[in-house]
This record gives sequence, structure tokens and C-alpha cells, in this order.
Amino acid sequence: MVLGKQGAGKGTQCVRLSHHYVVPHVSTGDMLRAAVKQGTPIGQKAKDLMDRGELLGDELIMEMVAERLQESDVRARGFVLDGCPRTVAQAEELAGILAPFDLDLAIDIEIHTTQVLRRLAARRVCVDCGANYSLSSPPLINWTCDVCGGEVVQRQDDTEEAISRRLELYEIQTAPLIEWYRSRNQLESVPGTGSPDSVTRRMVKVIEIRRQRGSGFG
Ligand code: ADP
Repeated sequence: MVLGKQGAGKGTQCVRLSHHYVVPHVSTGDMLRAAVKQGTPIGQKAKDLMDRGELLGDELIMEMVAERLQESDVRARGFVLDGCPRTVAQAEELAGILAPFDLDLAIDIEIHTTQVLRRLAARRVCVDCGANYSLSSPPLINWTCDVCGGEVVQRQDDTEEAISRRLELYEIQTAPLIEWYRSRNQLESVPGTGSPDSVTRRMVKVIEIRRQRGSGFG
């Protein structure tokens, strides 16, 4: 499971880890954005809250995550979890869902708020596949996604107002999870600075060290 402020690079790194270890990437943000796009009942509830940078209710999120974690790909291979838990209540619920197993590891990607503000203001995403770009590394042609040809735009919750609300909620609701996982000996932290490749290398390194120690890895 990967923790980090908005803009820490969670989404990018989770996609890379899921390719590296050949496990599904389970992202609540991606699942919710897909639900909004499809106009499902969850999507209809979620849209307005997401655009304002508010969190959705724990119950709705955990129901969605529990359902996803029961699917056969996850059961066969494991998973990289991105965007959940975001509150201590979600962490407790997740532990219950996973019992008698548990998370192998929670990795916190550390980054300074001034840096994430800069990254989020410049972030652009593909509306179809969610690939990430930025003003400094745009798609090759005309804001058309290199991966799938979709339109590349600014996320609706990447406005200044919604960004500051999300960061505020991160400090209040999500940051306490760092201590929560540390006290259970499930936490590793890596600096989120430098190139995406160097952050991936740091993450794989802490995963491999834990694996060799065999602490909890299933
Ligand atoms: P970010 O981490 O940049 O805010 P995400 O893509 O992870 O973006 O999530 C987008 C939005 O989806 C959040 O701002 C929130 O409204 C909602 N969301 C995602 N995951 C959760 C969660 N675990 N609990 C509550 N709300 C969530």
C-alpha cells in the first residue's frame, strides 16, 4: 500500500510497481473517476465531493475496495493499493477485510508541500486512461495521450481551492496513518524527490529488503 500527499507521485509509482511485480494496481481515485464517467450510482454521489476535494464516506469507499479485493486477479497475485486507506477508520476496516492476512508493507512517499503545489498546478491527465503528464513533459502531439489517444486535460480537482482542501484533509485525516503503520512495524518511508525512476528504485529496494527479512510477506 502506498501513502503520500497529493502530488507525491503515488499514482505514477503504483503503476510502475504493479508492472514490476506483475500485480493489479487498485486505485480508489481511478475507480471513482471511472464510476463518475460511467454515471453509476457511486459516481453520481462522488462527483461533486471529488471536484471540491472532499473525501467520500468511509463506508462507501470500503465497500468498493472490499469488492475489488475479492476478485480473482487480486486473490491470485496480490495487489498494489493506491488511495486507500485515507483515514484510520479505513485502515482498521482494511485490516479486517484482509484478515487472516495483512498488508505486506505500507510505503510513505515523502515530499514537501511547496513541491507538491508546484507539481499539481502543472499536472495534466488523460481523460480516458488516466496517464499522467505535466506542462513540462506534455504528450508528443497536441495534448493527445501517447498511450491511448485520449484527450489530456487538467483534473477537475486540480484547482487551487480543491488542492488546498485535499492537502488540508491529508494532514488531518491521512498523515496519522504514518504513525499507525509505523507502530505496527509495517511502514517504510522513501523520499519522493528526484526523477520518477529514482523514486521507483528506492521503493523496490525497501520492498526487497523487507522480503528478504521475510517479515510478514505472503
Ligand atoms: P489525490 O490523492 O490526488 O487527492 P485520488 O485520485 O487518489 O487523488 O482521489 C481523488 C478523490 O477521490 C479524492 O480527493 C477523494 O474525493 C476521493 N477518494 C479517493 N480515495 C478515497 C478514500 N480512500 N476515501 C475517501 N475519498 C477518497
